[in-house]
Amino acid sequence: MDLGISGRHAIVCAASKGLGRACAEALAREGVGLTIAARTRADIEATAEAIRQAYGVPVTAIAADVTTVEGRAAILAAAPRADILVNNAGGPPRGDFRSFTAEQWLAAVNDNMVAAIELIRALVDGMMERRFGRIVNITSSAVKSPTADLSLSTAARLGLTGYVAGVARQIAGHNVTVNNLLPGAFETDRFRGGVTARAKAAGITYEEQFERQRSTIPAHRVGDPAEFGDACAYLCSRQAGYITGQNLLLDGGQFPGTF
Ligand code: NAP
Repeated sequence: MDLGISGRHAIVCAASKGLGRACAEALAREGVGLTIAARTRADIEATAEAIRQAYGVPVTAIAADVTTVEGRAAILAAAPRADILVNNAGGPPRGDFRSFTAEQWLAAVNDNMVAAIELIRALVDGMMERRFGRIVNITSSAVKSPTADLSLSTAARLGLTGYVAGVARQIAGHNVTVNNLLPGAFETDRFRGGVTARAKAAGITYEEQFERQRSTIPAHRVGDPAEFGDACAYLCSRQAGYITGQNLLLDGGQFPGTF
């Protein structure tokens, strides 16, 4: 299916690897030009070059921390008229809920809620004027299904989820949509770090912990980031203009509820 977005321009945050990169690649495959950002200059420049070579679209690499005012300004300066915004950042630390300080709570809210809100705020009026905009926030399955060590992630991302629910209805009339993608287990560096930490806590090997987690997924496998990228590209498509304010779980069936 032609997604009808060739020639459009997307900002994809936190995109040198993992889920952000997968979203950038899926959009590039559809002919979308990119501004991609991550903190480590060598990594984001290497990813940009790989995407240019593979898909022949223009790609600007920005070495920036999306959780800072300066980082967001640098990203926006490179693409002030972006048609598509994919919000993403590293996840907050795992740990026992008793262990988190007020500073850590505020940092989680800044990194996983406020950063996305600020980029949306900067771009949404232009999208509305041009009568096309697609905003996708990468959140987490932890929003629907909290896990013991991810309370910082769950709480901060729920703030963003509530914001999206309200804003989506205010901008839908201008063909601007905003949706959240909720990853379950996808094999990325972040996922492997979680398996390593849980294996250590349980006193078992990485392979044993990986198998514990995999065996709880009805699909009997961990997700491929490319599958996640494809879902993102669809939500950014011309055809997805009637989908807004939604929370789409990609978790191989792990969440057991009907809705
Ligand atoms: P990943 O493989 O570790 O990749 C993270 C990417 O984000 C890298 O490109 C990293 O590059 C960049 N990044 C991190 N912090 C950044 C910042 N402050 N500013 C700009 N770029 C930043 O992680 P992932 O698995 O793709 O996870 C992406 C998001 O999905 C995270 O919020 C994670 O918590 C969430 N999530 C993932 C899973 C999963 O199974 N993978 C499940 C649920 C939720 P630099 O380090 O160079 O900046």
